[in-house]
Amino acid sequence: AIAVLGSTNMDLVAYVPTAPRLGETVTGSAFRTIPGGKGANQAVAAARAGGAVSMIGAVGADDFGTQLRTALADAHVDTGGLRTVGGASGIAHIVVDDDGGNSIIVVPGANGTVGGLADGDDARIAAAGALLLQLEIPLSGVLAGARAARAHGVRVVLTPAPAQPLPGELLANTDLLVPNEHEAAALTGTSDPYKAAAELLATVPEVVVTLGAEGSLYAARGAEPVLVPAPRVQAEDTTAAGDTFVGALAVASGEGRPMPEALAWASAAAALSVQRAGASASMPYRHEIDAFTG
Ligand code: ADP
Repeated sequence: AIAVLGSTNMDLVAYVPTAPRLGETVTGSAFRTIPGGKGANQAVAAARAGGAVSMIGAVGADDFGTQLRTALADAHVDTGGLRTVGGASGIAHIVVDDDGGNSIIVVPGANGTVGGLADGDDARIAAAGALLLQLEIPLSGVLAGARAARAHGVRVVLTPAPAQPLPGELLANTDLLVPNEHEAAALTGTSDPYKAAAELLATVPEVVVTLGAEGSLYAARGAEPVLVPAPRVQAEDTTAAGDTFVGALAVASGEGRPMPEALAWASAAAALSVQRAGASASMPYRHEIDAFTG
C-alpha cells in the first residue's frame, strides 16, 4: 500500500490568447475547474496504476473541498486521512496562454493546516510500504510524516516541489528524492543533472532526476548512474507529468520490481499522460501502462 501526505488544490484554469499584465483585463476563451495539488495528483496516479492508496491532508469546508474529496474517492483513494477543516480549500489560479505558457498563483488554504500528523495518521503511514511527500504543505508536516515513516521502516519518497531549501533532517529521513532538473539545480546550484545527482547522494541513498522528454536519471550510492529514456510521444499537456511518474514509480517499486524496470514503467505512465489534456484526467490506468510497455 501507498500513503500520500500532501496537498489537495482545486485548479482554476483560465485559457487566454495572451496573459494579462498588471492592471489589464483580457477576454479568455475557456475556464475549467480541475481537481489537483501535487499530493492528490500523486495519489490518483498511484491508484490508477493499481496501488492501494490512502491520502492524508486537508480540504476546506467549502464546495471545492467536497469536490476534491469526491474526486479522490472516485479514483478509489482512501480519504479516511483527509480532514475537512474550517475555511477555504487550497486553490491554484492558473492562466494558460495560446503558446501553452502558464502563470500560477497557489493559495494554500486548508493545506496550510497540515503542519503535523493527526489521529490515525501514524497508523496509516505504518500500514504503507511507501510514503509519498511533496512540499505544498508546511515543512513541519512533511518532516513529521518523514519521521513517522522512518520510525516504521516505511520507504520515504520526496518530490522537492515547489523548490525550496530543505532541512537536513528531512533529507536524512528520505530514501528516494525525485526532483525535476530545475529542482535538482535549485537544491545543488549545478545545472548538470549528473553532478547534481552525485551531490545529492551525499544526503540521500537514491535519487531520480526527471528530465522531461529526455527521460530520467537514476543514481544510487555505489553504482553507476542510469539514464532511462522517455518514450518519444507528441506532448499535448505536460502538467503533472512528474506526479504521474512518481505515483507509477511507487506502485512498481512497491511490487518489488528493480529500479530500472520500475523507472521504465513510470516513464511509460508519464508519456501516456502528456499526450492528453488535463492533469489528473490524463493519468493512465494500469492496463494502459502495461499495454504501452508491451
Ligand atoms: P515535472 O512535470 O515535475 O516538471 P518532468 O518535466 O521532468 O517533471 O517530467 C517528468 C517525467 O515525465 C519525465 O521524466 C518523463 O518520463 C515524462 N515526460 C515529461 N515530458 C515528456 C515528454 N514531452 N515526452 C515523454 N515523456 C515526458
